[in-house]
Amino acid sequence: MAGLSKRVRSLVRDDVASLSPYDPNFTPCRINLSANENTYDMPAKVRAAINEAIAATPTNRYPDPMSNELRDQIATWHGVRRENVCVGNGGDELLFNFFLAFGGPGKRLVDCPPTFTVYDIYSRMLGTSVVRCWRDPETFELDMTALLAMARTADMVIVTSPNNPTGNVIAPDDAARLCEACPGIVMIDEAYTEFSDEGVSCEHLLATHDNLVILHTYSKAFCLAGVRVGYVLAAPDIIEVLGAVRQPYTADVFAQAAAQVVTSMRGVFRPTIDTIRSERERLAAALGAIEGVHVWPSQGNFLLVRVPHAGIVRARLRDKYSILVRDFSSAPGLEDCLRVTVGTPTENDELTDAIASLVKEVA
Ligand code: PMP
Repeated sequence: MAGLSKRVRSLVRDDVASLSPYDPNFTPCRINLSANENTYDMPAKVRAAINEAIAATPTNRYPDPMSNELRDQIATWHGVRRENVCVGNGGDELLFNFFLAFGGPGKRLVDCPPTFTVYDIYSRMLGTSVVRCWRDPETFELDMTALLAMARTADMVIVTSPNNPTGNVIAPDDAARLCEACPGIVMIDEAYTEFSDEGVSCEHLLATHDNLVILHTYSKAFCLAGVRVGYVLAAPDIIEVLGAVRQPYTADVFAQAAAQVVTSMRGVFRPTIDTIRSERERLAAALGAIEGVHVWPSQGNFLLVRVPHAGIVRARLRDKYSILVRDFSSAPGLEDCLRVTVGTPTENDELTDAIASLVKEVA
C-alpha cells in the first residue's frame, strides 16, 4: 500500500500491507465503456416496477437475512432448490466469502490468468496460495492438460466463463473433467453468461457434480451494477458454509426488492441482450478493420483489443473524446491491450471513429 504509515505498517497483517485499494481508474466521462456494465439503461417498465416495490418497502426493519423470497425466485428460475442458492452483495462479496470459507493459509487456489484480478487480491488478503495456469499467450484459450494436472492437488479452482478480460469460455465437457479431477471445489464464474451462446453455460453440471459452484450477478445483463446483488448456485452443504461466513444483512431491503422485480421481469431484458450480442460482433469487425488493431473473439459484453501505444490511446480517448475504456496494457500477458465494453450503436460508432483517428495520430 503506498503511503502506509509506520504505525499502521507495524500493526497490519503482512498479507494486507502489500495490498492497494481496488481502483478501476474511473473518471467521469461522456461515454463510459470501462466497467462492463449494461450501457443501456434499465428498461422503463422494470424501473417503474422497482420504484413501486421500493416505495412499498419499509426501512425501519432489518432485511430478511437469508433473502429467502429472492432465493426461491432464483431457484425456480434455475430449476434448483432454495438450499442451492446463496445471495450476496454483488458477485465480489460472494467471491470473498468463497475464499473466506474454502481458502486461507495452507489452501491452494488454481486460477487461469489473464483473468479477473479480484481472485488474486482475495487470495492474498486471506493467505491462500495461488497457482497460475496461464492461458495461451495468443488465443487466451485454457491449457486443459496443465489445468487438469494442477487441479488434482487444488483446494479451489476458478475458471471465468466468459473470461474477463479475454472473452473465452470453457466447454462444459472440460468443466466436467475439471470437477472430476479436483478434490476441492471448482467455481465457474459466469458473471457474463447471459451474453454467451446457448450451450456454453456449465450450470447443468450442478446436477451431476457436487463440487461445482456457479457464480452469477445482476450487475451485467440485468442493469443492477449500482445496486449490488449476485448469487451462487451449488450443492446444499457448500451453500450452508457460504451462509455461515456471510454477514447477515448484506443484501439490503432495496437490493432484495429490486432483484426480485428484475427476476420476475427478466424476459424484458432479452432484446437488449440480443442487441449487445449483435453489436459486439459489429464492433469487433469495425475495430478489427483498423490497421494495426487486433480484436479477440468474445462471448461477453466486452472486447479485448490490442492497439499500438494502448496507454496513450486510452488517455487520449478519455481526454480528447471523453470516452473511458479499461487499460490492461501493464497487466502480464496483455501488452498494449484495452478492454472495451460493448455499448449502444452510437457509442460503438464513436469509439470506432475515435480509435481509428488515434491509431493514425500516435503512429
Ligand atoms: N466476476 C467477474 C468475472 C467480473 O468481471 C465481475 C465484475 N467486474 C464480478 C464477478 C463481480 O461483479 P459484481 O460484484 O458487480 O456482481
